[in-house]
Amino acid sequence: LNEKLTAVFKGMRKQIRISEENIQDALKQVRIALLEADVNFKVVKRFIENVREKALGEAVLKSLTPDQVFIKIVHDELVNVLGGDDAAAKINLNSKPPTIIMMAGLQGAGKTTTSGKLARFFMKSGKSVLLVAADVYRPAAIDQLEILGRQIKADVYTDRSTKDVVKIASDALAYAKKTAKDLMIIDTAGRLHIDETLMDELVRTKDAVNPDEILFVADAMTGQDAVTVAKTFNDKLNATGIILTKMDGDARGGAALSIKEVTGKPLKFIAIGEKLEDFEQFYPDRMASRILGMGDIVSLVERAQDAIDPDEADDLASKIQKKGMDFEDMLKQFKMIKRMGSLESIMRLIPGLSAAGPMNVDDRQIKRIEAIIQSMTPHERKNAKILNSSRKKRIARGSGSSVNEINKLCTQLEQMNKMMKRMKQKLGSGKDLSKMN
Ligand code: GDP
Ligand code: MG
Repeated sequence: LNEKLTAVFKGMRKQIRISEENIQDALKQVRIALLEADVNFKVVKRFIENVREKALGEAVLKSLTPDQVFIKIVHDELVNVLGGDDAAAKINLNSKPPTIIMMAGLQGAGKTTTSGKLARFFMKSGKSVLLVAADVYRPAAIDQLEILGRQIKADVYTDRSTKDVVKIASDALAYAKKTAKDLMIIDTAGRLHIDETLMDELVRTKDAVNPDEILFVADAMTGQDAVTVAKTFNDKLNATGIILTKMDGDARGGAALSIKEVTGKPLKFIAIGEKLEDFEQFYPDRMASRILGMGDIVSLVERAQDAIDPDEADDLASKIQKKGMDFEDMLKQFKMIKRMGSLESIMRLIPGLSAAGPMNVDDRQIKRIEAIIQSMTPHERKNAKILNSSRKKRIARGSGSSVNEINKLCTQLEQMNKMMKRMKQKLGSGKDLSKMN
C-alpha cells in the first residue's frame, strides 16, 4: 500500500500547481491504492469522499504547497479512520486485580504468540502476569504457551487433566487471586473457520470469568477475511479491542484501515514479527505515517530505548572512539541491535527505507558474521591486523564460511574505522563522539 501511495505523492510533487483536475486524479489513485491494499470498498468510498471534500476546499488550491496540504489531508483522514486521536488505546486495568484478558481468534492468527508478547509488555512495567492455557484441543498448544512463559519468566497455568475450558479458566482465576497476579491472560483455542461449538465455548468462558478485555486477534495477511471474521467474533463476544498480527507481511495497512471502521472497536496493539519484541501499542498517527511511507521514527526510538542499556552503549561508543572498532565491538553492536527485534522490522520504521521497496536486509547475514567472529580467538577479535591467511583458513573452517567472506568482513571493519576517523576530524578532536547522540 505505501509504495503505491508514495508513487502518487511523488507524481504530485512534480506538478507545479494542483488544480481541480489533478486533485481528482490524485484521489482516483489513492482510491485504487486503497482498494488494491484490500481495504473494504465501503471504507474506501467514505475515505475518498472525506478527503475530496477537504481537498477541494480553499486550503489546497490557494496553498503554495498544494501537494503537502493534500498529503496532510490524506494523513489526517487516515488517522481518523484508524481510531481518531493520537493516543494509543489503553488496556482497561481493573482496579481490583487480576485484570482478566481473554484472547480470541481463528487458529494461526497469533493468539498464543501474542499472549506471550502481551504478558511481556505488562511485565516490563513491573506487573505480574499469569498466562492461562485454555486451548485444550492441541496438546502442543499448551507446550507452546509453557515455552513462551519460560522465555519471559511468566507463570503459566495449565491443567492437562480436563478439557473443560470453563473449569480451567475459573480455576486459573482462583490461582491468580491466590498468587496475587496483576493480570491474567487467557489463551483460547481457535478453529480454521468460525463454528458454533467454538463460539459457544468462548461465550461460556467469558460468562464464567467476566474478562475486563476481550481482544480479538486478527491476522492482517488475510485482509478482507480478517475483517469479516472480526465482525462475527465481535457480534458474538462483544470484543473490547483488536490486535492485528503479521503486520510485517505484505498486506500492511489494508486490514488495519477496515477493521476499526467495520467493528467499531479500537485497535490496541500490532504484532510485526515472530519474536517477542516485535510488538507495539497501536498509535493511529504513527500507523498513518507508516502507511504513507513516511516511516515511523517515534516507534524506532522507543524500541531502541527499550532494548539498549544507555550505559552499555556509552561505554562501547567511547571505547570505539578512543581505540577504533574491533570485531569484539562489532559483536556487541549486533547484540544490541538484535534486542530490538528482527532487522526487517527495524528497517520498516526508518523513513524513506520503507518506501524504497522490498528490503533485502537479512538476519541470516548477521548470524553468519557473528559465527565468523565467534570462531576467532579473543586476541584476534581485538587485533584484526594479525589475521593472516592460515588464521583466516582456520576461522573459515570453524564458522562454515569462506576466506573470501572473512576478507570482506575485514575490509568492512577497516572502512568503518576510516569513516569514524574522518567524522572525528570533521567534528574536531575535542568533541566526544559518544556524547553526540
Ligand atoms: P494461534 O493459533 O492463534 O495461537 O497462533 P500462534 O500464536 O500459534 O501463531 C501462529 C504462527 O504465526 C506462528 O508460527 C507464529 O510464529 C506466527 N506469528 C504470530 N504473530 C506473528 C507476527 O506478528 N508476524 C509473523 N510474521 N508471524 C507471526
Ligand atoms: Mg494457539
